[in-house]
Amino acid sequence: MPANPERRQVRVELPGRAYPIEIGRGLLDDGATVAGAVPGRQVLLVSNETVAPHYLARLEAALEGRLTASVVLPDGEAHKRLETTMAVYDQLIDAGFDRGCTVVALGGGVIGDLAGFAAATYQRGVAFVQVPTTLLAMVDSSVGGKTGVNHPRGKNMIGAFHQPRAVIADLAVLDTLPDRELRAGLAEVIKYGLLGDPEFLAWLEADIERLLAREPDALAYAVERSCRNKAAIVVEDEREAGRRALLNLGHTFGHAIEAATGYGPWLHGEAIAAGQCMAAWMSAELGWITPADYERVAALFARAGLPTRPPGIGGAAFRRHMAVDKKARDGQLRLVLLRRPGEAVVTGDYPATALTATLAHFEA
Ligand code: NAD
Ligand code: MG
Repeated sequence: MPANPERRQVRVELPGRAYPIEIGRGLLDDGATVAGAVPGRQVLLVSNETVAPHYLARLEAALEGRLTASVVLPDGEAHKRLETTMAVYDQLIDAGFDRGCTVVALGGGVIGDLAGFAAATYQRGVAFVQVPTTLLAMVDSSVGGKTGVNHPRGKNMIGAFHQPRAVIADLAVLDTLPDRELRAGLAEVIKYGLLGDPEFLAWLEADIERLLAREPDALAYAVERSCRNKAAIVVEDEREAGRRALLNLGHTFGHAIEAATGYGPWLHGEAIAAGQCMAAWMSAELGWITPADYERVAALFARAGLPTRPPGIGGAAFRRHMAVDKKARDGQLRLVLLRRPGEAVVTGDYPATALTATLAHFEA
């Protein structure tokens, strides 16, 4: 038995900017891994008041010998904005950090997006390392280089592409993650199976309870496989000119749920779980998958403890919120739909009646 059976590495092979995703239990206390992944002498650690008490001191200890500073931000999506980013710039300037410094994000997707944006823009761009602490951040937001903050009038309206130098996913930090956040992350994990990895989908159908029970080897496998899927798509299409849009499976419906409910009661993962069920139902309505395939998809989300239907929003409101989604081009709403469980397509080529029927079916 190797010392750390959960230890894995995925490489994101972007030409000239390739980087490793280190996956394993206890990586935060593994000085060699942390030191190897974080370049530079000056290091700013960015975290929030929920995560920092658990993990900040350990990360600082692993970076012994570097000149470190830290900034602990308030928790929550409401703080993912320019005013909060200013506190990160202030800290970088107060510490006297130059262009050779590194910004490290220790937290979920909110901290990763905000710290990444600060790294992309401080002195026109400094090195960035992600230490994701939610399942969603490990499998999704920390991989791929999208960074940014919200504007009062829209989510992620201000941002930049800025690839990290490394991602350190210490699975042990998931021990403190609330169940509901874990399940929300599973919605993105299942997405990778549905959109392009039928073998992984079959594994999830067999083993989803092991993930809910946080079995270390199951989590390691799911994080690795999800990162491999996302990395492959990002390498093909870094700037989302084509294939990367597949990652939006369930997201057009899901964003409408989040927007209509005011970005509060539903976690993103919950909204896109229901959204993926809606996309599957519509795919069945189109005859692209069978009703049994749809049932199979909905059953998996249900077993993961995730919603399989939207809240009662009403078809008209749904449509309004879907239309402002970024996937609408030239007035034609492009959706990610299923050709079969394990293969998705991005298309605006469907009869309008199929969308109408889908919204009507889920309105009740
Ligand atoms: P989050 O960062 O708000 O974290 C969820 C909650 O869990 C927070 O309260 C956080 O403090 C807490 N938490 C984090 N780690 C913890 C731990 N180990 N133990 C205990 N509590 C912990 O939410 P998220 O779901 O990680 O990320 C959502 C954000 O990610 C959104 O802003 C979204 O826009 C962004 N996102 C970005 C990308 C991208 O490609 N850049 C992709 C997907 C999502
Ligand atoms: Mg998402």
